[in-house]
Amino acid sequence: MKKLLKPNLYYESIFYIDNNKLKEKGIEGIIIDLDNTLAAWDVKEADAKVINFINDLKQKGFKICIISNNTKARVDKFNEILGLPAIHKAGKPKLSPYIKAMKLLKTHRQNTAVIGDQLFTDVLGGNRLGLFTILVTPISEKEFIWTRMVRKLERIVLKKVIIKDK
Ligand SMILES: [Mg+2]
Repeated sequence: MKKLLKPNLYYESIFYIDNNKLKEKGIEGIIIDLDNTLAAWDVKEADAKVINFINDLKQKGFKICIISNNTKARVDKFNEILGLPAIHKAGKPKLSPYIKAMKLLKTHRQNTAVIGDQLFTDVLGGNRLGLFTILVTPISEKEFIWTRMVRKLERIVLKKVIIKDK
């Protein structure tokens, strides 16, 4: 079980993924999660940074498919500009969406990578099939920590400002 939950690579964010490394590993297809991997759960549309990230991968010859446990409406709206093959209500870590994605991408277990923010869905599902798995830090968690840090800083600054004013 422990081995099934261990990703092959870990990155702070999708934007740090070294795609040369993927090329070296012989990866041709990428199965990518949506919520908290490509965007925070409340971000409805792909922003410029995500569009560039996807275009860059495409340009380097990677084939990409979104698989998400979220609804059709969520996936379709986010994928509108990206226009990628996409599977909604995937039910990860079930194996069927990964198999379906590889069919769509015309890739196989040895040349397909999975990118996602959750060990128990994205990574577990990918590892069960022997795919190359990449874990990223969930976006909202980062935002949460960041927000907390900012709040803390705000309180410190406020205290100082208030004391100074007295
Ligand atoms: Mg996710």
